[in-house]
Amino acid sequence: MRVRFAPSPTGHLHVGNARTALFNWLLARGQQGTFILRIEDTDLERSTKASEQAILDDLRWMGLQWDEGVEAGGSFGPYRQTERLRNYADHAARLLADGTGYYCFCSAETLDAQRKAQLAAALPPKYAGTCRNIPAAEAFARKAGGEPAVIRLRVPERREVAFTDVVRGLVTFHTDVIGDPVLVRSDGIPAYNFAVVIDDAEMEVTHVIRGEDHISNTPRQILVYEAFGYTPPAFAHLSLVMGPDHAPLSKRHGATSVREFREKGYLPESLVNYLALIGWSPGQNEELLPAEELARRFRLENVAHSAGVFDEDKLAWVNRHYLKLCAPDRLAELAEPHLRARGQVVGPLSAAARDWLEQVLPAMATSVDRLPQLADRLEAVFRPAGGPLESEPGLAEVASALAAELAGGLRLIDKDTFRAMAGRVKDRTGLKGKALFHPIRVILTGAAEGPELDLILPAIDRAAELSDSGLAPVASCQQRAQFATGLLNP
Ligand code: GLU
Repeated sequence: MRVRFAPSPTGHLHVGNARTALFNWLLARGQQGTFILRIEDTDLERSTKASEQAILDDLRWMGLQWDEGVEAGGSFGPYRQTERLRNYADHAARLLADGTGYYCFCSAETLDAQRKAQLAAALPPKYAGTCRNIPAAEAFARKAGGEPAVIRLRVPERREVAFTDVVRGLVTFHTDVIGDPVLVRSDGIPAYNFAVVIDDAEMEVTHVIRGEDHISNTPRQILVYEAFGYTPPAFAHLSLVMGPDHAPLSKRHGATSVREFREKGYLPESLVNYLALIGWSPGQNEELLPAEELARRFRLENVAHSAGVFDEDKLAWVNRHYLKLCAPDRLAELAEPHLRARGQVVGPLSAAARDWLEQVLPAMATSVDRLPQLADRLEAVFRPAGGPLESEPGLAEVASALAAELAGGLRLIDKDTFRAMAGRVKDRTGLKGKALFHPIRVILTGAAEGPELDLILPAIDRAAELSDSGLAPVASCQQRAQFATGLLNP
């Protein structure tokens, strides 16, 4: 089995296309097949190296490594269409020679006028066939004389083109609705429907898995296979990924590209696992499974042909699961850019600061959906001491008691130290429960809400002891208590 993902490098990798890549990858991995990556860059105006690189980078980030293709090599290369122009020209020459292809000299204006006339007559627009019957010798002479021409495929009349789509079942098109498609443009650049067939045939692709937006191209491509006597591959057209309103997922729904979800702080394994669940199910009432297990269970035949809706809440649920499983050192590494963006990390991290992050972050990861929320949780550590303290019942007493308790240099380095100290503050003030812990929280973390006190206060005091760590400076609990006392008991 040989499958391929064939992106056009004209923008970021859309999650719908990422799902197409994933389904190809799952099939290849699960069936010991070969996953090929081919770059379809024949749209010279819109293709860029930068977006090619971004697509490769996103695929690698998702862990969808390809066995053959650009940057990986293989014996069916080159894998970039602009490096295969010779193959397309040779193939076009074959079709011109046997008459299955012909030169068309119609100008853009002529074609446009014909199209408008057809639409006005309520006819489906298709090429009128003007140049179909120009005698070959005359057409070759005009072309040799410098007249610009495209090459079209002579589509057989009054015929059905049928194929059994692995996902959608039998699909039939009548050739009478298919105008003779352009195979090669006047500048010599092949059209998608031509290049894709030659490449899939030459690369010995056995299964073409792509978005259903290509389904109307498939009969045209089958006719091109026929024109060369090639056997078409199996086709599977995946339903598109929709937004919550059942319109194709687009910018107006919010994030659409792999890059954006990556920047929002989703883990690659979360996106992969979630995308696999759109229109497919691993069965046995299980959803959260590693990619290799998804691949083991994946069957193209079980992909739903109804549209799948992208549900970011569900993605967040999947991400919570993987954040909890994430190893501390990896979590620290993944979180670092987000902490840096918030000014919580300001320089190169020392080994001690890294240890600190590896201790603190896993505890916080149990209650967040996405990586940047780890920075929200850490605000309690990095908030400067003595933010505006509203006068509240108990605040002044608790501040004095805390300052007294911490004055001797006591560091709240763990849960037990904190709990013992809180017990003594309770004795000093006579306050308990919320009346005690709310003021402690406000004074020491600068906010009414945040992570568990017995988690965050040790985090604060351990960070306060670090110096030249790469973390932003952290005031100790003692400094915070003293500052608040000064403010509240003038
Ligand atoms: N370059 C095409 C696209 O990105 C590939 C379609 C196909 O897989 O045949 O839509």
